[in-house]
Amino acid sequence: MSRHSTSPEASLRHVQRPAGSLGLIRQVLADGGPGFCQFAINNACNAGCDFCSFNLDILPRKDWSFAPLEKSIAAIDILLGHGVRYLVLTGGEPMLHPDLYGIIGHAAGRGMAVILVTNGSRLTEDGIRTLKESGVSSVIISIDAASAAKHEENRKLPNVCERIKKANALLKAHRIQCTASVTMSRLIDDYGALPPFLKSLGFDSVTFSYPLTTLRSSFLGHADSPLVSYDPEELHRTFDEVKKLKRRIHVVNPTASIEEMQRFLRKEPQRFPCLGGFKYFYLDWNFLLWRCHFWETPICSIFDFDDSRRIRDGCTRCMIDCYRDASVMQHVGVAVADATMHLRKGRAGAAVKALFNREVLDSLKSVVEGKAWINRI
Ligand code: SF4
Ligand code: SF4
Repeated sequence: MSRHSTSPEASLRHVQRPAGSLGLIRQVLADGGPGFCQFAINNACNAGCDFCSFNLDILPRKDWSFAPLEKSIAAIDILLGHGVRYLVLTGGEPMLHPDLYGIIGHAAGRGMAVILVTNGSRLTEDGIRTLKESGVSSVIISIDAASAAKHEENRKLPNVCERIKKANALLKAHRIQCTASVTMSRLIDDYGALPPFLKSLGFDSVTFSYPLTTLRSSFLGHADSPLVSYDPEELHRTFDEVKKLKRRIHVVNPTASIEEMQRFLRKEPQRFPCLGGFKYFYLDWNFLLWRCHFWETPICSIFDFDDSRRIRDGCTRCMIDCYRDASVMQHVGVAVADATMHLRKGRAGAAVKALFNREVLDSLKSVVEGKAWINRI
């Protein structure tokens, strides 16, 4: 191990678990609030989505990898020691992982909110009961279209919508929040048809994934597919369609973030620096830690990570929703931490400047907009 090595025991020594609102306030003042990590526990997937390179037709079984349980547990403890409180378990399809429940159980037992992202094909009655017992906080199920036929054709998962509908009823009974995740793609020709279809499947909220043709990290959730290739003007109009949906179903993506993405497409200055690499991370099945899905080089092995490896450089290179949306919402928390730091150093003017500006106000509005959904995690 290098000089940056951090053992799970060492990192847990300075874990400060937030104790309700008071703990959260303390964490915001200290370092801007809790971070998240997207942990892709395997690259295996049983689906064949045309806009994704985890697709079983592209990545065959012989190339599948699964993060072993013991190392996953050690990695989670290190993340916890660095302020990560939200663990998003993804794949591929994470429900193919033989130790999924052990990984969830460990993270939830350490006080993390665990969010599972799945295509829903493995959400059986027993599976949902075990998810509940393991302590999962929230489930996100991918939906590609505004009809079952189109969704199942793209996924190559026959009858998966029927399973999702049953799963949503069971998840509600177990009081586990469930959200639809819809990739903005050409499979949706009428955004207005989405709310009734999603509601018929049992969803009352949706988060949109912005289309991705290229990623440079190990994450394969992208493809050079006409389904997700847009010219900027067309994509700009599609964002307008998403904004309109807010009147008909809860859309998790903050309005301020959608408008930031529209500025990105118009090549206008960005107002909200991304916190990827500072508060948010991507961990892959080989335990390489990346600042995000987009970045071409990993930060280091998770087992070599320490706080000196964090990156805060105001990056706005890409438009990946999970990092950019969260950064808009957390902007206010980071501004509070910055202002607190300035005050401690006797720089009152800098503290006022950090706190009282339009970006902080818009970030605060986005927190209010998403508060009910966040509280349910
Ligand atoms: S989008 Fe999800 S379900 Fe579809 S191939 Fe990719 S990882 Fe699998
Ligand atoms: S803007 Fe994109 S490339 Fe930059 S840190 Fe955020 S997610 Fe990564």
